[in-house]
Amino acid sequence: MNKIPIQSAIDLDTSDPLGHFRDQFVISDPELIYLDGNSLGRMPKTAAQLGNDLINQQWADRLIRSWGEGWLEMPVQIGDKIGKLIGANPGEVLLADSTTINLFKLASAALQHQTGRSKILTDDLNFPSDIYVLGSVIEHGGGNHQLVIVPSEDDVHGPEEAIISALDEDTALLTLSLTTFKSGFTYDLDKVTRAAHAAGALILWDLSHSAGVIPMSLTSSGVDLAVGCTYKYLNGGPGAPAYLFVREDLQQKISNPIAGWMGQRNMFDFELAYLPTKDLSRMLTGTPSVISGSLVEPGVDMLIEAGINEIRKKSVQLTNYFIELSQALLLPSGYRIKSPTDSDRRGSHVSLGHEEALRINKALIDRFKIIPDFRAPDNIRFGFAPLYTTFVEVYQTVSALKEIVDSDLYKIYSQKKPVVT
Ligand SMILES: *Cc1c(COP(=O)(O)O)cnc(C)c1O
Repeated sequence: MNKIPIQSAIDLDTSDPLGHFRDQFVISDPELIYLDGNSLGRMPKTAAQLGNDLINQQWADRLIRSWGEGWLEMPVQIGDKIGKLIGANPGEVLLADSTTINLFKLASAALQHQTGRSKILTDDLNFPSDIYVLGSVIEHGGGNHQLVIVPSEDDVHGPEEAIISALDEDTALLTLSLTTFKSGFTYDLDKVTRAAHAAGALILWDLSHSAGVIPMSLTSSGVDLAVGCTYKYLNGGPGAPAYLFVREDLQQKISNPIAGWMGQRNMFDFELAYLPTKDLSRMLTGTPSVISGSLVEPGVDMLIEAGINEIRKKSVQLTNYFIELSQALLLPSGYRIKSPTDSDRRGSHVSLGHEEALRINKALIDRFKIIPDFRAPDNIRFGFAPLYTTFVEVYQTVSALKEIVDSDLYKIYSQKKPVVT
């Protein structure tokens, strides 16, 4: 590692305008290098205080009175804050359910709206859960639609041109992950949205790996629908509720496939006839998860404070630095870069391929206290969360990756897959 001295990493950290945010997260083990913020973000310190308040005051003390003291508005109020990160207007984002369930709701609603069109278009880099639930949407929607999965040519880059060519007058819905979960490839939001609209299709973006690291304006791009999770770069905590976005002028034109009392106009009248609210809350179903939903706010507040453009700047610097070091030092040791090298086409994570990826991953965790994640069959994914990842951590990770292979350290680990990777 003496070709690129660690001093360059130290200098980058010293001049990092977002450096002070790291101190706002709980870092109980300073030696741990956590590169999994794209799977489960670190915990903001203020979340611990808020959690205590939620349990001991709002729940234990205020009991049912708390519903009138903020709980009922929470899905809209936090939804609006998430809206600031993804360029949505107030009233266009709701915190609710999980990403997969929101995808079911919005995709079903889209198909019902798009009468006479039978095709749903996606790609084979999409998150498997998204593909599964689209199958459910079709099955429970009467089985009259087909899912067309456009393949990536190299398993790294999304088939953007092939998707645009596949859009036709029979396409009801195009749905994609804006940033793909394995390679981090990121679609051109504007261009693909425009192409979908030109064909008369609706577009539904999954923003799970993009929100909080990529600047976007759903409103000015004319996006119809979007979903995403809050426990990755938004640092909302394990299993925290997801969010859904519906463009304002579409809100009254679509209906909720899982109607429930939280979406009912005057819900406390307990009318038996379902009459949906006039705003986006019609997409709600049952009682919100108050505790974990409320805990989404501290992470989102921090991202708003840091500013999405500053965050993106550092994200690009981090991933560029990782890729440059990898190209210089890791390619000779059998690693391959399995993410786009063009930063305009990349989210905030980078994948490396290696035929010994599983055992290298185990050695990283066990020997070096570095946590990335392994994605079968031969991918190691490194997530760089700009608010707490340092350049020195990037440097140390590349250095460890090199040593693990060059010194055969991985060979003592078994080839058996652990349950959670
Ligand atoms: C993480 C992720 C999800 C998560 O879905 P859940 O229903 O919240 O488990 C969905 N889609 C994508 C693209 C993801 O990256």
